[in-house]
Amino acid sequence: MKRIDNKILKCPNCNAESLNFNEPEIVCTKCKNTFNLENNKYVFLRLEEGEINDFLDKIKYRLKKFSFFYNFMIKLISPVCPTLNMKKLIKKYVPDDTKIAINLGSGNSKISDKVINVDIFAYENVDIVCDIENLPFKNNSVDIIFNFAVLEHVPNPDKVVKEINRVLIKNGTVISFFPFMQPFHASPYDFSRRTVEGMKVLYKDFDTIELKPSGGPTSGLLWIFQEWVSILLSFGIKPLHYLLNIVLMLLTFPLKFLDFILIYHPMSKNISSGFLYIGRKK
Ligand SMILES: [Zn+2]
Repeated sequence: MKRIDNKILKCPNCNAESLNFNEPEIVCTKCKNTFNLENNKYVFLRLEEGEINDFLDKIKYRLKKFSFFYNFMIKLISPVCPTLNMKKLIKKYVPDDTKIAINLGSGNSKISDKVINVDIFAYENVDIVCDIENLPFKNNSVDIIFNFAVLEHVPNPDKVVKEINRVLIKNGTVISFFPFMQPFHASPYDFSRRTVEGMKVLYKDFDTIELKPSGGPTSGLLWIFQEWVSILLSFGIKPLHYLLNIVLMLLTFPLKFLDFILIYHPMSKNISSGFLYIGRKK
């Protein structure tokens, strides 16, 4: 668990900056709302597993509890080429423990011990459980915010980006992956995609450091191809559709590694799986 400085937190209910931290409770001195604090896990809301409706998503939720296994499988057989070099990003943007870094919508994966995990579900590796459209952080309190493949799962990504802008310090960094060419994948919901131009609009209040394809064009094609074949050959039978998806993933995943080269093609943005955005708060 990442140690969190209580001074950066505020009440997500009334925005009061005066919270009392008495394990196992956090009490807002203004609105008197109480939240949970157990074993260094701050819980500002509670959603149960029962609220996940999609069948595949239930499996995903269970798999995500086995973080190492899940991440390894995702990296290997998922149709998206792992072009994102997380270690390099962490080394560059979170060089030491003095920076306050958070990963919004972390799920159960831990990108670094130096990063605070924030998610709507209370997975084992999550430090702060909250709604990412309404963060329990004070204004100008965080140095770096990561969010990878998260904003498509919230109904109002603009609202989250506004929150990111609010809680970041001046010149603070946002590092974000948003999908473009990906089939519908609820987790537990899926609302939107962004083109390279759309990314610029989403992060219009930031100075762009980097905006480039991530995943790449083969990844974009491959995932959609797998989905298309599964639709074609499953004759409306849902379990068969899931099965075909997995079989096709296993059969075709090596193709995605072409993206380690194709990602550098100037037109790869046309059908890239998604985009990586790095920007600085103005
Ligand atoms: Zn309050």
